[in-house]
Amino acid sequence: MKKGRISSVESMGLVDGPGIRYVVFMQGCNLRCQYCHNPETWTLLAGETVTAKSLIAKIERFKPYYQNGGGVTFSGGEPLLQPEFLLECLRLCREKGIHTALDTAGVGLGDYHQILSHCDLVILDIKAVDPQEYQKLTGRDISAFNDFVKQVQESGTKLWLRQVIVPGMNDNETNIQQLAALIKQMKNVERVELLPYKSTCKVKYQNLRLNYRLDNLPDMDEKRCDQLQSMLRELTGIK
Ligand code: SF4
Repeated sequence: MKKGRISSVESMGLVDGPGIRYVVFMQGCNLRCQYCHNPETWTLLAGETVTAKSLIAKIERFKPYYQNGGGVTFSGGEPLLQPEFLLECLRLCREKGIHTALDTAGVGLGDYHQILSHCDLVILDIKAVDPQEYQKLTGRDISAFNDFVKQVQESGTKLWLRQVIVPGMNDNETNIQQLAALIKQMKNVERVELLPYKSTCKVKYQNLRLNYRLDNLPDMDEKRCDQLQSMLRELTGIK
């Protein structure tokens, strides 16, 4: 019986995948994105310990809400850091006919083939395309992300792509061109979404006594983010 650590759940999520979704925020992440909205998930040692079976039994009770195109999204933190628990959850969902999405930055423990073959949709967060920018934003080398992209392409799993647009960091046309060039090499991409940076997470850092490195940064201008989104759509032909 696989056990995992989860930070929290949301029973009626509307932004993490298609339809109405039960969102499971899992503990653990090896990245340290400057704008992370969930710093409470970073450590693998916090949160509640649950078995995959008990979690999926709980989710199943909400199934009527998910029947019309919704499902479950495993998010975090980084769900790929608890691969055995995640795989058992995905297996159980498939047995019960529940659609699954994996919301990930693609930086886990290395072998994702089983997970990807049991997952209906991957929502992949592209932190940055340029290796130096990636390192600066996340504190980690880009090679683990590149390896995940390779495996997700081999698996043929459907992809939604996302990037957070941060003022003064990546809100420029060069970034959009680099992003478009990467996306055009990828298969099975159904959707690409740019998300404007928001500073609402500051209070979490204060509560956790962590330093918030973007303390004085304003929210991303939503109109500019929309312009960049249109440019990306034109360059890639993907909605
Ligand atoms: S990958 Fe997600 S959870 Fe991990 S640090 Fe970055 S934003 Fe936070």
